[in-house]
Amino acid sequence: MRLAAPRGTRDIKDREALAFRELEASALEAFRRYGYEEIRTPVFESRELFRRVVGETTDIVEKEMFDFTDRGGRELSLRPEGTAGVVRAYLEHSLDKTGGIKKLFYMGPMFRAERPQAGRYREFWQIGAEFFGNPSPQADAETLLLVRDVLSGFGLKDVAFHLNSLGCPDCRPAYRKALTEFLSAHRESLCEDCKRRLDKNPLRCLDCKTDGPSLADAPRTADHLCDACRAHDKELDGLLRSVEFSFVKDPRLVRGLDYYTRTVFEVKAGGLGAQDALGAGGRYDGLVKQMGGPDTPAIGFALGVDRVCRSRYGDALDHAVPTDPARRVFVALAGAGTGETGFKILRDLRAAGLTVEIGAPEKSLKAQLRWADGWGAGRVVIVGEEELKRGTVLLKNLGDHTQSEISLNGLEKVLAS
Ligand code: AMP
Repeated sequence: MRLAAPRGTRDIKDREALAFRELEASALEAFRRYGYEEIRTPVFESRELFRRVVGETTDIVEKEMFDFTDRGGRELSLRPEGTAGVVRAYLEHSLDKTGGIKKLFYMGPMFRAERPQAGRYREFWQIGAEFFGNPSPQADAETLLLVRDVLSGFGLKDVAFHLNSLGCPDCRPAYRKALTEFLSAHRESLCEDCKRRLDKNPLRCLDCKTDGPSLADAPRTADHLCDACRAHDKELDGLLRSVEFSFVKDPRLVRGLDYYTRTVFEVKAGGLGAQDALGAGGRYDGLVKQMGGPDTPAIGFALGVDRVCRSRYGDALDHAVPTDPARRVFVALAGAGTGETGFKILRDLRAAGLTVEIGAPEKSLKAQLRWADGWGAGRVVIVGEEELKRGTVLLKNLGDHTQSEISLNGLEKVLAS
């Protein structure tokens, strides 16, 4: 039997692996400017953590977690998202006691047992960040700018930001009641999932793929915000306009995780079909306290690396990485006694910054030249016994097929030019 990667997972290779790195580099650069520090949390955590943070009635916890029990009988889950682990670490290490504001970013794989399809995997990568301590819309505004900077630094400029406010524990109950009444009146036409959600988590009906589109007349969160939430929302709009940040208000945006309060957002791209959400985030002012910590406002986001890269490069992602022959040198060994000199040339040329590969004296020169060609070398240094006696090597240009004899001493200079 031929072994294959598990369903919903894949190997990140070729151009895609390079694109991941480019996006990470853009993110690192933006995080530096915005004052974020890195945190690496475990890939698995106690199942209880996700139950409490992500929410018992969310799709993620109800049906998408990879759960397992370790040999000590502990109930664990592969992380389905990054915020839970970061909040746990924030509390565990009392990062809250270090002076009010804490900004943490993470990058890594997440796991959800979803039905695999284009842009939806069981293992996918996220780059995310959490900003603790600042209750002001300033923090919301800079978080949105940060996401835009990460994407534009990666060369992805054509994206749309969708924003909504979900209110707070003061105003959400009244909204929830109005929504539940509306949904109850339409109960018969709802899908089975939404019938269940109606009692447990009615907001989720709004982003149900089946029912969502037919619920256009449902009550809007924006019409039920308390004065404080409304003021927060208005100030955020003003800040964003003041820096010419374009966005659309999307009253149907609710998000699949339970912890959000006030601002939620999603960033979307064209050309990705149904899976057009590149990333999402929002404010979660109640979460740290709910987890046993001090009352700490917070806001965060997560970008889906797989989708961001696909959106930027399309199908080119599946192709091999083009190499630059000008920077690739192959050292071929012609004859016994050439190994040590060849090895020294290899080391020196690598130290000079070139990408260098060496042949094997067990192979014929012809076979080594085939290697060089297949590997994408622009030039081949042929180390031969006769030439070595004269202190020279042959330099073959695979582009124009010319060949010259040059002094060993001058080799580095010739190749670096
Ligand atoms: P969420 O944590 O659900 O808010 O998702 C944030 C972002 O992660 C989404 O906008 C997607 O880009 C990405 N994402 C979420 N689930 C998946 C998945 N199963 N496969 C690929 N990307 C995903």
